[in-house]
Amino acid sequence: MNNILEVNQLRVAFHTKYGQVQAIRGVSFHIARKEVVAIVGESGCGKSATAQSILGLLPKRNAVRSGSILLEEENLLSLSEKQMKEIRGSKIGMIFQDPMTSLNPTMTVGEQVAEAFVVHLGISAKKAFHKAIELLHLVGIPSPEARAKQYPHQFSGGMRQRVLIAMALALEPHLLIADEPTTALDVTVQSQILDLLKDLQRKSDMSILLITHDLGVVANIAQRVLVMYAGEIVESGSVEEIFARPQHPYTWGLLESLPRMDDKKGGKLRSITGTPADLLNPPTGCAFAPRCPYTMEICENTMPSEYSLSSDHKISCWLQDERAPKVSWTYERNALEQ
Ligand code: SF4
Repeated sequence: MNNILEVNQLRVAFHTKYGQVQAIRGVSFHIARKEVVAIVGESGCGKSATAQSILGLLPKRNAVRSGSILLEEENLLSLSEKQMKEIRGSKIGMIFQDPMTSLNPTMTVGEQVAEAFVVHLGISAKKAFHKAIELLHLVGIPSPEARAKQYPHQFSGGMRQRVLIAMALALEPHLLIADEPTTALDVTVQSQILDLLKDLQRKSDMSILLITHDLGVVANIAQRVLVMYAGEIVESGSVEEIFARPQHPYTWGLLESLPRMDDKKGGKLRSITGTPADLLNPPTGCAFAPRCPYTMEICENTMPSEYSLSSDHKISCWLQDERAPKVSWTYERNALEQ
């Protein structure tokens, strides 16, 4: 099998005191071995819930999942919490947004990186600490022997994120899930962390699922992009296709909200007007209709069909219907040059 992960018709709903929030509404995608796939969208679109579903980290008391999530042909949705714990850290590594709260302030950095070796491989604490130093070196921590004996508060944000990457990679996972891994960092450090992830991925067989709200980050590292809106994938394709020939009005909006290199006057960033759909009462038609400048009558009451523009470029939008008016959208800047 060439795919490491296959997600089929995943649905997630959260029971709340106001009713059931349909956070993920029939999402299907795959990740091939050694592939970097990014899920992009505004907050609340379901991208983090998708990552947490794969990791089995959604709250049991109010989340309901259906569909299937196959990791190397094993359906993660049918595993017990104990089995999922075993898979997290060994087959799937994870990095989250906030490097400070993800580290234990009372343990040295070396001890925390070494913990995975002790727990999962059963090797001695001394041997594990040596392996931790090697990993800290691999992720670019200078003087790793000395730094391994220090505590998280003695590290900068970027260095703490490197430590988390070391922890995530300790057991050589087949899939790394990185949820907004650079959002809390300043721009220079962001690109260093992305370069590090890219470099580590190239040197291994690992696949990466990157979750981000920032299409600029995607251009740097991913091979394929899934654009999510209101719990659905509305457009997917290779990075080249999505940047050169985007077709969904929501993707156009995301691209327009990227800072422009040619904007010498420091003009305001454009944002997508309106508010995201209410997933307590999901619309019967296209969820983007209230915010879309091209809404037609059909958009408001019928879910758009999925159109294949090429083998790896798919879009759900009525503008692709042959009876729809032709809309041309141009974007002068090539965001890949960022
Ligand atoms: Fe806009 Fe209609 Fe396309 Fe939805 S289906 S994005 S409302 S044109």
